[in-house]
Amino acid sequence: MSAVVNQERCVGCELCARACSSTHALSLDLERSWISVDDDLCWDCRACERICPFGAITIPAGLEPDMARRDALRVPRVAPADRIAT
Ligand code: SF4
Ligand code: SF4
Repeated sequence: MSAVVNQERCVGCELCARACSSTHALSLDLERSWISVDDDLCWDCRACERICPFGAITIPAGLEPDMARRDALRVPRVAPADRIAT
């Protein structure tokens, strides 16, 4: 399960995408101007739900944040030294 977007309410402001910084599960669908969710990257943290001013993105009731999933998916803030080109 993951975040669900109400396409009639979403205005494509991308506030939620900024809040979803640990796994980058949200991206703007440029053709339709609404946000789309990559279900494989969402860990149900509800940050997007809390920040959306239009109530356009929600997490199904009863789901708790899956911390183990977050840790497995999280994009490192700093590239490991062995990946930095010299
Ligand atoms: S779901 Fe809400 S915060 Fe995200 S782009 Fe749509 S309107 Fe903006
Ligand atoms: S619930 Fe969390 S991980 Fe899932 S789309 Fe929203 S901010 Fe991103």
